[in-house]
Amino acid sequence: MPIDLKPILEKIRASGLWRSLRRVDGPTGAEYAIDGKTVLGFCSNDYLGLAADPRVRAGAIRAVEQYGAGSGGSRLISGNLAIHEELEARLAAFKGTQAALLYNSGYHANIGIITALVGPDDHIYSDALNHASLIDGCRLSRATVRVYRHGDVQHLSDLLAADADKPGKKLVVTDSLFSMDGDLAPLPEIVPVAHKYGAEIMVDEAHGTGVFGKNGRGVVDHFNLRWAVGVQMGTLGKSLGSFGAYVAGRRELIDLLVNRSRSFIFTTALPPAAAGAALASLDILEQEPQRIAKLWQLTAAYRAALRKAGHRALGESPIVPLVLGAPEEAVAASQRLFERGYHMQAIRPPTVPEGTSRLRTTVTAAHTEAQVLGAAQAIADVLGAPRHS
Ligand code: PMP
Repeated sequence: MPIDLKPILEKIRASGLWRSLRRVDGPTGAEYAIDGKTVLGFCSNDYLGLAADPRVRAGAIRAVEQYGAGSGGSRLISGNLAIHEELEARLAAFKGTQAALLYNSGYHANIGIITALVGPDDHIYSDALNHASLIDGCRLSRATVRVYRHGDVQHLSDLLAADADKPGKKLVVTDSLFSMDGDLAPLPEIVPVAHKYGAEIMVDEAHGTGVFGKNGRGVVDHFNLRWAVGVQMGTLGKSLGSFGAYVAGRRELIDLLVNRSRSFIFTTALPPAAAGAALASLDILEQEPQRIAKLWQLTAAYRAALRKAGHRALGESPIVPLVLGAPEEAVAASQRLFERGYHMQAIRPPTVPEGTSRLRTTVTAAHTEAQVLGAAQAIADVLGAPRHS
């Protein structure tokens, strides 16, 4: 008997939370076609505009020519290709750590790292706005999870203090640049608190990489905290324009993950093309820091134009969210902007908390100043007098 899915689907529709896929024709970039209509894109995570860069494409093609389309097996069986090790060495050097390990996606990485590090006898302290993959990693680990209010180090400190005498390992987990709010974790304040209570710190640099730090090394580098953050996770699918993820840290951490991390062990190794593209992107980050400077110039111009029109966006980064409230409102705004030629996706629960549905807009280095100013104007026209915070 097929399970009756109709009532479930009807409930999703009735709550304004229906999701459906939109087809993008051609490569991602400042401009692309969606369902046949050419639009300016303002919601991708390709912050440096590298996904379609000819050199990054060439890196992928070279890797395919040298290693084939697929890796043929998991890393521990037959799939540990030279290009994986080459990329891991590059990432470790980039992050300034002893070693690095690839995962097939950020989602795999987060569930695999957390579950290998802590278990039922241990404790996790997790920011309330952490990404879903971190939340799922926490749940899968079966550790006791304490959620601290977003960015609230005093709350984190209180939770750690309450557990001070409890046995077991302790892990503080946070996004570095929050994906839906565009703000930074207060790492300089988190570090001394975590260390006071003997907790390890894990930071998710999915969005921080390529945006913050020297040559895009991330938020941990931006704050000069490499020495203090033991577990630096990052992805290849955002600023690096490819696909996949990594963790960078001490040799022992990587040894543990190779032995214990189920989402590393029980899956086919990253395709060579993804590794080749990421290597090419890392070259570009080293050679063209002006891309990051341009990203920040455009971000400043876009945020200033929104502010001038009376619209206050959250955060302090190229992730520029405008909170509207009800899911229907965010969807309607997104639709009106689409009609004007802008792709700005509505983000609704459970991706963001109830009552905070929003337009999550992003600037990339592939945009021009005229494009970001046009986008700010379109937002001002569509949203009218500011109502959001
Ligand atoms: N962490 C954060 C903060 C993210 O935003 C994302 C992706 N949106 C991930 C992890 C998962 O990365 P991936 O897309 O490579 O699975």
